[in-house]
Amino acid sequence: MSGVVLVTGAGRGIGAAIARLAGQRGYKVGVNYSRSADDAKKVVDDIARAGGKAIAIQGDVGEEKDVIAMFEAMDKAFGPVTALVNNAGILGKPTSTAKLGADLVSHVLRVNVTGPLICAREAIRRMSPPTSKGGVIVNIGSIAARTGGMAGCVTYAASKGALDSLTFGLAKEVGGLNIRVNCIRPGLVESDIHDAATGGIEASHKAAKATVPLGGRMGKPEEIATMALWLLSDEASYVTAAVYDVSAGR
Ligand code: NAP
Repeated sequence: MSGVVLVTGAGRGIGAAIARLAGQRGYKVGVNYSRSADDAKKVVDDIARAGGKAIAIQGDVGEEKDVIAMFEAMDKAFGPVTALVNNAGILGKPTSTAKLGADLVSHVLRVNVTGPLICAREAIRRMSPPTSKGGVIVNIGSIAARTGGMAGCVTYAASKGALDSLTFGLAKEVGGLNIRVNCIRPGLVESDIHDAATGGIEASHKAAKATVPLGGRMGKPEEIATMALWLLSDEASYVTAAVYDVSAGR
């Protein structure tokens, strides 16, 4: 059964693909963005053109007041969320640990860990009795949580490790409220996130050829979106506290 879903960081990349597919599957969709207003508007327009309902919501997931305002905007437009996809994430400037500054660490952790936790808090408040009978949270982690990430991206890998732990702990905490919490760990997927880390998408395609067992290629954002929509759906009714690698064997 469809509902009301907020997808963070949904103007581009994986988040945009999840938002579009959710719109096609009948969800009312909140398309969150922090800076890419034009991209978010395009996603909203695409959903509307396909017969769905969506709004764009500006907000930095690392800012608590923005997160509160994002959920209030959803309340106003569509009613309380029944689903949350914690997708927004940043890599941070690739830096060896010997040169690392605490500011960079704080920034990455604020967006990649504090953001999902505070978004989850707002979602859980709306998914709990007496007003609601449950809901679903999907976190977008990364296989970096187990591989340690690309060169210079230890902070990012650590933040995604935290997202795995958050998934396990939160799922146990809110299972009694009929709220499911799961995590998808993508491998190498085509998006803008590679620009800073690898010297661009071409370098990432080359890396994929050498390191991805299935097909030797990067994934498409849509190949992550199908998994997210399955986890959101009732077909996954017995699935919680689970972490799924969608990484073509990498
Ligand atoms: P992307 O193309 O760089 O998109 C990231 C999105 O997050 C953008 O829409 C960006 O929106 C948003 N965002 C960044 N900081 C934000 C903030 N503070 N508040 C709200 N939104 C924010 O990256 P992507 O590859 O689609 O990444 C999506 C998720 O997948 C991330 O969590 C990433 O770690 C994870 N992932 C990606 C890959 C991959 O290979 N692509 C692999 C593993 C995991 P604005 O432009 O508006 O800031």
